[in-house]
Amino acid sequence: MTSMASPTAKPSDTGSHNTTAIFKELGFRINDHDLYQQTISSVLTAAAMLELPHHLQLILAQPKNEIMVHFPVKMDDGEFRLFKGYRVQHNNILGPYKGGMRYHPTVALDDIKSLSVLMTMKCSLMRLPLGGAKGGVQVDPRKLSPGELMRLTRRFTSALGSNIGPDHDIPAPDMGTNAQIMAWMADTYINFGDASRRWLGMSVVTGKPLEFGGCLGRDKATGQGLVFVLEELLPELNIPLKDMTFSLVGYGNVGSWTAKLLGVRGSRLKAVMDHTGAIRCDSGIDPVALAQHVEKTGGVAGYAKADAIDTETFYRTQVDVFIPAALEQMIDLPQAQLLQCRVLAEAANAPTTPPAERYLLEKGVAVLPAILCNSGGVTVSYFEWKQNRQAETWDAETVDTHLKKHMYAAAQRVKLAVHRYGCDMRTAAYCAALENIGKVYRIRGIFP
Ligand code: GLU
Repeated sequence: MTSMASPTAKPSDTGSHNTTAIFKELGFRINDHDLYQQTISSVLTAAAMLELPHHLQLILAQPKNEIMVHFPVKMDDGEFRLFKGYRVQHNNILGPYKGGMRYHPTVALDDIKSLSVLMTMKCSLMRLPLGGAKGGVQVDPRKLSPGELMRLTRRFTSALGSNIGPDHDIPAPDMGTNAQIMAWMADTYINFGDASRRWLGMSVVTGKPLEFGGCLGRDKATGQGLVFVLEELLPELNIPLKDMTFSLVGYGNVGSWTAKLLGVRGSRLKAVMDHTGAIRCDSGIDPVALAQHVEKTGGVAGYAKADAIDTETFYRTQVDVFIPAALEQMIDLPQAQLLQCRVLAEAANAPTTPPAERYLLEKGVAVLPAILCNSGGVTVSYFEWKQNRQAETWDAETVDTHLKKHMYAAAQRVKLAVHRYGCDMRTAAYCAALENIGKVYRIRGIFP
C-alpha cells in the first residue's frame, strides 16, 4: 500500500496518556464504547501531536453550550405529545455555529455532542468561517403526517428561540430532515424575528428549497464532495474511478447521490445494504433505477435486478471501496473483519469504531475519515449562507467549481499532515483542522 494507508494508527502513548489525563480533569467516567469519548479521544490524540496548549484541549473536549428543550405538539388525533429537542454548540472560534438538525428515534445527547465536535473539525478542515454545532429531535419522522411534522418543526424552532440566528447558529438538514423542514424553520424564525432584518432571517438555516433561498447542488453536495475526494486520493492508490468497484451501507441522500455520481464516472456498484435488507449484483447495480425503487418502496429490499443476500455476504463482497453512508458506529470489529476492500471511505459521520479502524489500518486498508469525506454538505451550506447574505444566486457550475476547489484543497491538507506527522489519515485530518483552530485562538486569546 502507498503512503496514505501505511502509517498504521499512531495514537502514541503520549496521545493516550494525554487523553486519559484530560478525561480525568473533566470528570468523565471512562467508557471505551461511548461515541463522545471515542470522538474526543481521536481529537485529543491529534492535539497532543500538535502540542496544542492544555487549556485549548480542555476547551475543545467539552461543547460550549448544550441546549435541551421539551415542547408539546398537537397530533392529528387531537392528543398532545411531548418531544425532546437538542442543540449542542461545540465551538465558535472560527465563526457562527453550524451543523445539521436530525430527526431520528435514536437521537440522544451524547451522539449529538459527538456530531457537534465533528462539525467544528469539518468547518476548520475546509477553512470555512464557521464553528460546529448539531441538534435534533428524538422522533421517527416517517411516523408523522406532514401536518404533525410541520407543527413539531415550528414548535422546536420557537423553543430554541434566539439560540439560533443567521449570525449565531445556522442549522441545516441531516438524517430525517429535508429542505421542506428547513423552510418551516426559516419561516418560523422570520415570523418571530426583527421585522427590519426579515430578509436576512432566511439565512438562519441552509439546505432550503431552491425557490426560498436554497442553493443549486445542495441536495447532492455531500455525495459530490465525496466523489471529488476520491478523485483526488484514489489515483495514489492505483484505483481509477473508471472501473472502480464499490459497495454502500445506506441508500438515503448521501448514499444514492454518491452511487449516481460514481456511476457517471464509470464505477460499478456491487452491493448495497440498508434497514430493509441487502442486495448484490457483481455485474453492477444501476444506481438510478435503485434510487427510484427506494423512493417507491422505502428501501433496497425487493429490487428486482439484484440478488437478496445476508448481512455477512454483504460485508464479505470484494470491492475496491467500501462506503458506509448511514449511522454512526456501524462498522465495529466484527464487521471490519469481514470486509474485503482496499479503501473505506466514511460518507457517514463516525461510522468506524476505533477497534475496527485499528484492525483495518493494520491490514493495510486506507480509512478516509468522515471530516474530509462528507464535508461537501456543509461546504455548499456555506455557499448558500453566503449567497443569502449577499442577495446573490450562483449557477450550478459555479457551485461545483467552488466545491471541487474546497474538497481538493482539504484532501491536500490531509495528505500533507499524513507526511508531516507520520500518522493515519483520521489523525492527520484532525491535525489539519486543529492547526487552524490553534492559530485563531493564539491570535484572539481567551476573554477577558
Ligand atoms: N448535516 C450535514 C453534516 O453533518 C450538513 C451540515 C450543514 O450543512 O450545516 O455535515
